Amino acid sequence: MITSEQVSFDQQHIWHPYSSMINPPAVYPVESASGVKLKLSNGKELIDGMASWWSVIHGYNNPELNQAAHEQIDKVAHVMFGGLTHEPAINLCQKLVEMTPANLDKVFIADSGSVAVEVALKMAIQYQHARGKPEKHKLLTIKNGYHGDTFGAMAVCDPVTGMHEIFTGVLPQHFFAPAPQTKFEQSWDESDIAPLRQLLEQHHSEIAALILEPVVQGAGGMRFYSPQYLKEARALCTEFDVLLIADEIATGFGRSGKLFACEHAGIEPDILCLGKAITGGYMSLAATLTTTHIGETISAGGAGCFMHGPTFMGNPLACAIANKSLELLVKNDWQTNVARIEAGLKVGLAPAAELDNVHEVRSLGAIGVIEMKEAVNTAKIQKLFIERGLWIRPFGKLVYVMPPYIMTNDELEKLTSGMVDAVSVYKP
Ligand code: PMP
Repeated sequence: MITSEQVSFDQQHIWHPYSSMINPPAVYPVESASGVKLKLSNGKELIDGMASWWSVIHGYNNPELNQAAHEQIDKVAHVMFGGLTHEPAINLCQKLVEMTPANLDKVFIADSGSVAVEVALKMAIQYQHARGKPEKHKLLTIKNGYHGDTFGAMAVCDPVTGMHEIFTGVLPQHFFAPAPQTKFEQSWDESDIAPLRQLLEQHHSEIAALILEPVVQGAGGMRFYSPQYLKEARALCTEFDVLLIADEIATGFGRSGKLFACEHAGIEPDILCLGKAITGGYMSLAATLTTTHIGETISAGGAGCFMHGPTFMGNPLACAIANKSLELLVKNDWQTNVARIEAGLKVGLAPAAELDNVHEVRSLGAIGVIEMKEAVNTAKIQKLFIERGLWIRPFGKLVYVMPPYIMTNDELEKLTSGMVDAVSVYKP
């Protein structure tokens, strides 16, 4: 049981994500978690709508993931990946090569989503360098994107919603196209792709890669855009000799209703970033996949190798858990569950569209969003959610959920009705 002294230490000494040291936001101590429920140290149980930021797809304290962790920890928890290898990494990479688009067959195992993005950007730039085009070292992206908090990733986040505005002056300047305007379910409007074409026409000789989140823009606005945009972007990249990096760190492993969001458009990226749900939310692990051609071109270049190799690369414990998580994805029939949750979110969140303070309600796959007219006071609205037995953490105007795939219909109904009720009584 956490003491009040411990909580006070936390408030005085520990950074939380995007937190203040002068005016620290409330933090709720978690004692344990099981299935889709978090148990706070005061005994209160909360239905978790966040899946710990997209990652806990199989629920907390999952017996099979626990067992995979125990078995691996008794063999070897960590060993350096330089000059050594192990079965958990080999099995994981075999699975990733099998399940991702057919052209992707070289895997770099990274230790977090942001690092997977850094690796992808370096791969693209090193590839262009190795083929004698070092001038192609800029990046192209779309506004409202989010790719992580490290410097390379920050530089391709939306300059305004990307939460990194302060660093604009020190970041490399890349090219930004407007965010896609055609929504997921809308019929395609040709003019939507024109600005991307124009930027490529003007600057392709300087551009190594286009990086984007396919179909679902997450932390940069929770927007769902037309798969046709992605299809057109793929074709433009090929036409202008620019690589396509798909950041599926949030969307990967079924979240958008397809195993990978690229499948909505039937396209293959040149580089793919995965993370978050890969270990079912147990440990930090990510991966960057690319093609044989890119892998071999980089390796044949002046450096003779790919220039990256972190200490915890290929961590056996994380890889063993990821193997089990990917096994559970199939065994537990993610597709049926995501479709079931999608239907529950559509019905359950619909009444929010009638509320005066709500701008729009939308959902795709196991992602449900209530976009408010004004940015919410997170602390205030969070209290309302907690009173209703829910864990939901909004940002800006966005009150959103992406539940664990194992959430029952009954739990989902409690989540959506409580969410709508809290939004309806919320006062700024
Ligand atoms: N890319 C996307 C699309 C993300 O949503 C995130 C995390 N929110 C990241 C990259 C960065 O991942 P991490 O937080 O694991 O570094």
